[in-house]
Amino acid sequence: MKKLSKEETMNKVKEFFGLASKDKKKADDYIRKARNSAMKVNLRLPSEMKRRFCKHCNSYFNSENSRVRTREGKLIYTCLKCKKYSRFMIKKNEK
Ligand SMILES: [Zn+2]
Repeated sequence: MKKLSKEETMNKVKEFFGLASKDKKKADDYIRKARNSAMKVNLRLPSEMKRRFCKHCNSYFNSENSRVRTREGKLIYTCLKCKKYSRFMIKKNEK
């Protein structure tokens, strides 16, 4: 299999995220695939993608499996599946 460029991988990752948002049952699988593809080419996922899944167990966050809170300018996601937290900075000039 030919190694994908970062750009091609990004497209693939976006595709996986799109699929994950549509198919709840397979969502975690898609996230795992997306992360694996990104890892292979050392692609960093943009923060808006990172905050859509649990980095500990690859769960795609939805209203049922996560709780979101903000504290001290940070977004804190609690994954209800593995009970771990993920913290994200809130960018001040984010539109
Ligand atoms: Zn989790």
